[in-house]
Amino acid sequence: METYFKKIGIEFDCQQCGKCCDTDGYVFVSVREAGRMARYLSLSRKEFLEQFTRKVKGNLVFKSGVREKCLFLEKGKCRVYSVRPAQCRDFPYWEEHFDDKKEIQAAQKYCQGLKAPWSSVA
Ligand code: SF4
Ligand code: SF4
Repeated sequence: METYFKKIGIEFDCQQCGKCCDTDGYVFVSVREAGRMARYLSLSRKEFLEQFTRKVKGNLVFKSGVREKCLFLEKGKCRVYSVRPAQCRDFPYWEEHFDDKKEIQAAQKYCQGLKAPWSSVA
């Protein structure tokens, strides 16, 4: 995915600003990821699920509201960074960003590490 981004001229260099954790949207988490995070926080998976997650249309997401910062963001840093969900680890290499200028532009509004030369993407 990273290679594909480079091929179409999109550059990414994370500036560690934490803004992607403080923007619109759900953070999806799998049961397996929840288990890993629970162990990291010395909780049972059940405790973790009750405390930090809820279901949206059958999907497990963090309890933070759609327009709220992630509940694991503290002083601009992720407090579960080493066990964060794939959605967080993979950003900005998400499928919806491929070949979709609007999605990339939306991400660029908060991510200063994302650069796209539109002339080569159009
Ligand atoms: S889990 Fe961590 S990396 Fe993912 S959105 Fe929350 S604070 Fe950001
Ligand atoms: S918004 Fe972009 S630059 Fe800032 S931490 Fe997130 S990925 Fe890195």
